[in-house]
Amino acid sequence: MVTVCFRCPSCAMHVIRGLVCNDAVRALMSDFPVPLRCPGCGTVSLVLQHSRHRTLRAEGEWDSTVGHCLTIAATCRLRAGEVQSADARLFMIRLEQQWLELGARCDVFQQCAIVPARVTRPWSRRRLRHSA
Ligand SMILES: [Zn+2]
Repeated sequence: MVTVCFRCPSCAMHVIRGLVCNDAVRALMSDFPVPLRCPGCGTVSLVLQHSRHRTLRAEGEWDSTVGHCLTIAATCRLRAGEVQSADARLFMIRLEQQWLELGARCDVFQQCAIVPARVTRPWSRRRLRHSA
């Protein structure tokens, strides 16, 4: 499980969410965004790890949702050709499929933002070492 903290680009509420889905955690740790809904206004944002994407503006990078989905899917396809392990390749291909499906379900006029998030892993080795 990881904890994700980000600021909703629509209502500015600070959102804290726990991710327990292994694919979502793996995607986030592999520098891919994860769609998360703001409990305040319902806006879905594509959340990326801030520590690895420091150039992302706090207010988010807005674009059409379909555009974001297609760009992310294309990145998954590229990464699938670069990774060494078959497991990682299959994961990238599965992720590409998920983004293509999400893009196909979206309204073409819908907009969303990629936003930076602080991500913490409560039980990571580093954290355990510091607390020991
Ligand atoms: Zn919101």
